[in-house]
Amino acid sequence: MDELQEGPGAVNGGPTDPKHTANPSPPKSRGGLTEALSAWDAECGAQAPSPLEAIRLDANERIVIPFTTSMQRVETHYVDFPSLQGYVRCPGDACLLCRVGRRREQRDLLPVYDPIARAVGVLAISPNIRPHALRPQLMPILRQLKAGQRVLFTVRKTDRTGYAVASRPLLEGADDGAEKVVGFLERFDAGGVELAAVYAQPSSEELANIPEVAAMLKLRGITS
Ligand SMILES: [Zn+2]
Repeated sequence: MDELQEGPGAVNGGPTDPKHTANPSPPKSRGGLTEALSAWDAECGAQAPSPLEAIRLDANERIVIPFTTSMQRVETHYVDFPSLQGYVRCPGDACLLCRVGRRREQRDLLPVYDPIARAVGVLAISPNIRPHALRPQLMPILRQLKAGQRVLFTVRKTDRTGYAVASRPLLEGADDGAEKVVGFLERFDAGGVELAAVYAQPSSEELANIPEVAAMLKLRGITS
């Protein structure tokens, strides 16, 4: 943990003392200062690209540009414990939340481009096929996309399960995120993107440590 002490105030032998470090490719450092861009560029290269975020829909209209019809189907649970709230991913067979009877909900995850955030995000689509749900309204738009049309759509939530969706052609010269989308698709098509990472996936151990889950497990006599 010696590396953590680098920086102003941690220089032992004066400013000219050559510092040796185990870091294989330390960014150029002058007088304890580091060139920010070269350091951050190097670190970015070593890590996964910026994490995917779910596109959160509410009563405000969002603009979304679809670019693929490939999606990932996942199972989730909605939880509302004081220490854990929101949707979490269901890992399947040994899932503690399934075993204590929590409802499982399917979500189809579709990557889309958000031209305002200028990033690829993930739209979670429920299996609801009533006319005002998301899925039936997205189907004609994805068909247009598959037919080679460049489209965008606006979407906002109208009530708990309803959405207002409208599509229009993408104007010439509009930011369609082409560069980011191409890079994303390369990784996506090679299986290098886990869309479900937009959900937390607590381990069985973490879940068992939540008091409400622990109580449910105990009452059901589940010990593992
Ligand atoms: Zn489950």
